[in-house]
Amino acid sequence: SVPAALASGLSAGARRGLLIKGGAALEEIGTARTVAFDKTGTLTAGHPRVTDVLPASGTSASDLLAYAAAVEQGSSHPLAKAVMAEAGSRGIATPAASDQGAVPGKAVTATVGGRRVSVGSPRHAAELGARMGGLVEQAARLEGEGKTAVVVVVDGAAAGVLALRDEPRADAAAAVAALSKLGIRSVMLTGDNARTGAAIASGLGLDVKAELLPEDKLREIGALRSAGSVVMVGDGINDAPALAAASVGVAMGGGTDVALETADAAVLKDRVSGVVELVGLSRSTMTNVK
Ligand code: ADP
Ligand code: MG
Repeated sequence: SVPAALASGLSAGARRGLLIKGGAALEEIGTARTVAFDKTGTLTAGHPRVTDVLPASGTSASDLLAYAAAVEQGSSHPLAKAVMAEAGSRGIATPAASDQGAVPGKAVTATVGGRRVSVGSPRHAAELGARMGGLVEQAARLEGEGKTAVVVVVDGAAAGVLALRDEPRADAAAAVAALSKLGIRSVMLTGDNARTGAAIASGLGLDVKAELLPEDKLREIGALRSAGSVVMVGDGINDAPALAAASVGVAMGGGTDVALETADAAVLKDRVSGVVELVGLSRSTMTNVK
């Protein structure tokens, strides 16, 4: 019977670390036309490392990192952890900060030593009207290398640029290729800038939509759904609305609590290939039903 086939599909998934919240989700995953992936923490390991520290003239590398760490200490973003780790490994003490805030998908802010500091995308720095000098070109060059450039703005002037690189997961390219063989198109949705996104996506062999705010990811899911069923895979950081809006939301990357609550399924181990297995499990289960 249908319920028995679905129940055995659900338990077969659970044994392989593929948690599916119900028969309806299991049924639908195999019908996906498109799989939309979040980038950070999903297609990539989500453990970026600081690769470049470029202070503006008049600022030292340690002051730049100290400002950045002061602001990032209040953030759970993977970029924040990387900045804290770099400052720590260089023995830089983190100054106290107050009035912490976040501009989702763009930046984090705080007051440090009486100064207003933000750490975020070059685009956000430009929106703030920050004086950048030659740092604009430096940031663009780093992004072309697949790195994320973040600008530290102190009282309206750029104090420097940090570059961070987040390596793709080992099985990401193979999973995208396997989905393609199953007739499914993969798209990367990222809040990162277009240059970084394109560099990472071309290495993985999938399409990319970059510079997306959480509400833009939501809108992209809506647009993709007009072509058929859409699976969205994410970690819940800035992509929870998109997970909820997809035909099937899949939590990955350790999964934040938000992701686990919002999603219809979860890949417990951080394997992009878990998504391919979900599609396969769905299709074989539905074959048994018929
Ligand atoms: P992704 O979609 O790749 O997970 P996010 O939406 O989380 O990216 O963030 C988009 C961009 O916003 C980052 O690439 C970065 O430029 C900026 N940003 C967001 N949060 C932070 C933070 N805590 N520190 C520095 N930059 C940040
Ligand atoms: Mg993210």
